[in-house]
Amino acid sequence: MIRDTIHGEDYAAPAFHAQGLYIGGAWVPGSGIPVMNPATAEVLAEVADATAADALRSIDAAAEAAAEWRATSARQRAEILRRWFQLMTQHAEELARLISLENGKALPDARGEVAYAAEFFRWYAEEAVRIPGEFRHAPAGAYNILVDHEPMGIAVLITPWNFPAAMAARKIGPALAAGCTVILKPASETPLTAYAMARLGAEAGVPPGVVNVLTTTQPAAITNAMLTDPRVRKLSFTGSTGVGRTLLAEASKSVVSCSMELGGNAPFLVFDDADLEAALDGAMVAKMRNAGEACTAANRFYVQTGLHDAFVAGLTKRMATLRVGPGSEEGTQVGPMITSAAVSKIERLVADAVKQGARLHTGGNALPGNGYFYPPTVLDNVPHDAEIAHTEIFGPVAAIYRFDTEAEAIRLANNTEYGLAAYVYSGNLSHALRVGKRLESGMVAINRGLVSDPAAPFGGVKQSGLGREGGVTGILEFMEPKYFAVDF
Ligand code: NAD
Repeated sequence: MIRDTIHGEDYAAPAFHAQGLYIGGAWVPGSGIPVMNPATAEVLAEVADATAADALRSIDAAAEAAAEWRATSARQRAEILRRWFQLMTQHAEELARLISLENGKALPDARGEVAYAAEFFRWYAEEAVRIPGEFRHAPAGAYNILVDHEPMGIAVLITPWNFPAAMAARKIGPALAAGCTVILKPASETPLTAYAMARLGAEAGVPPGVVNVLTTTQPAAITNAMLTDPRVRKLSFTGSTGVGRTLLAEASKSVVSCSMELGGNAPFLVFDDADLEAALDGAMVAKMRNAGEACTAANRFYVQTGLHDAFVAGLTKRMATLRVGPGSEEGTQVGPMITSAAVSKIERLVADAVKQGARLHTGGNALPGNGYFYPPTVLDNVPHDAEIAHTEIFGPVAAIYRFDTEAEAIRLANNTEYGLAAYVYSGNLSHALRVGKRLESGMVAINRGLVSDPAAPFGGVKQSGLGREGGVTGILEFMEPKYFAVDF
């Protein structure tokens, strides 16, 4: 079935044919956006380049479908989402290969992503039938307070390239469960996954117009056109903090409700009372999932003096033995970065840290060849004011810093404008929780390297975002409470 999305070509073929926009349940032909394979720097496919007129047509389609979709029973919406979960699971391998080709990530990461993405459809199939309401007695006693939750209306969803399936599912799942219709604008680096998912959604029974997908080379113009249309009531964005700020300003013009999942600069704290091997296992997951191209990626490793040298040696050994190669090749553990610009940024951050006194233990130079490869790299003795300590690295570079006291570790960890994920390793749970309570972040992983779970509220504080995705509250991001004052 997915094969159809690329007109019968095998995913391994060097070039796919053009892919149209998906508006109102129909494919609108177009071209203009080349999709690259970051492992080879070759063009994989071309997708359509939407104009502002296409964006308005997709709002028309979402508006036309809205009343009927909102009126479906929660059970019907749940059944459709459940079928979408099943179809993604059934086509997991094809989707993983597609993700690997257009995003570059290693197949085990791509398979993990498909499972994680599909799980949002299953989770929101289960949550659709549990939308909460409230009934209270007014304190004055004269009447009752009844609170209902209504779908917000048309939602614009904007997603990044680093998790092309999961970020789309994490928004579409709750939006549809809530009764909203949506326009998804995936990143133009990785649009093929989004279009393949839209096909599966249609097969699962999503009615025409409920989910629309468009790709564009002019994201600002298209998004601004959509945000000024009064029918759009929700913007759910995942991407960089810089673009998030711009979108918040745009959305303010029409007072559109915003959920923002933005950048991170996660600290990873290892205390002397931690189990070293467990901390190293967790560090590899927290750093190397998606080759470091994750918003939750451990960006700063703070290791207490007693374990510091052993941690540096252990991490260097593990990082140096990872196999780098095209993500779609079996056996690859670290795929290419998304673009050559991403490689240049990492090179610059590492060179600057070394110049300021950081010690390089492994890696450190971009790999030759056409693809965008950067090797697993370990630095220690990194100065706290180096740029790498304050910038999302978004690559396979572990920067390690030494600390002596708990207070120092907490102060260093919180010294950032970001507040998405944090990691704490300690053999004493009450110690770890005490530290976790003082960390300024939306999520704290204790003695583990992975926080993401569709059943948990994902999101950040400070400039890492607004709102939460997943968990029991994720659906409410797409709903407005409506209060009825009732006198019986
Ligand atoms: P990005 O901000 O460059 O782009 C994200 C999306 O926004 C893309 O679809 C892009 O086309 C679109 N976009 C760019 N400029 C726009 C504009 N002016 N108006 C409207 N849309 C615009 O981010 P990226 O490079 O694709 O992704 C990496 C970033 O995303 C990192 O900062 C990472 O931390 C963050 N991220 C956050 C989470 C989270 O859940 N908090 C998850 C994944 C990625």
